[in-house]
Amino acid sequence: MTGAETGADRLARVATRDPVVAAVRRHAFIALLDHRPMTATELADVASLAPAEVDRALARLRAGGALETDSEGRVIGAHGLTRRRTRHRIVTSQRTRNTWCALDAIGIPVALRFDATVHTECPTCTSEITLHVRDGEVLTQTDAPTLWLPGGACGHVMDDFCAAANLFCTTKHLELWRHDAGRPPGQPMRLEDAARHGRHVWADVADCW
Ligand SMILES: [Zn+2]
Repeated sequence: MTGAETGADRLARVATRDPVVAAVRRHAFIALLDHRPMTATELADVASLAPAEVDRALARLRAGGALETDSEGRVIGAHGLTRRRTRHRIVTSQRTRNTWCALDAIGIPVALRFDATVHTECPTCTSEITLHVRDGEVLTQTDAPTLWLPGGACGHVMDDFCAAANLFCTTKHLELWRHDAGRPPGQPMRLEDAARHGRHVWADVADCW
């Protein structure tokens, strides 16, 4: 499936319609790519925005489950990247970065066109799944895993979307999970379609690498 708009997409679209929110999210993400979580003051500085405007944008993103901060007020999670340990990782020769979900782990290196190994875990059998991203494409094998793209309402990105946006080692394991989860709204997505979706979601930061 391509061109599918999820609840998370709708929420992101609302957030990015506000240019201040979009700028704060973009700068927070770029800083996290470099493992430099920024405070509101630092973000205001790099984005050339008034501190009160940055505070408003951070509060809005946080309320929508699209931002994490630590006890010192530094942004440790934004636009899919997080300093928190998760089941999803993007590994390059220089760094390991954690992400909120499997779509983030695939979409970020695809959209930013950096070569990486993506590590995630099948929720059904807990086996590790490894993918390779080269030149903005996911290298797929014949027995390629399948992504679940959650649908339905999304008031909180991390809880309502990311928690279920997982990669399954086989379509059988995806079906087992769907059955056990009570057939939630959403759709299976092939890796090449997940890559295409990722290029769209991270288009705003595609040139920052
Ligand atoms: Zn599995």
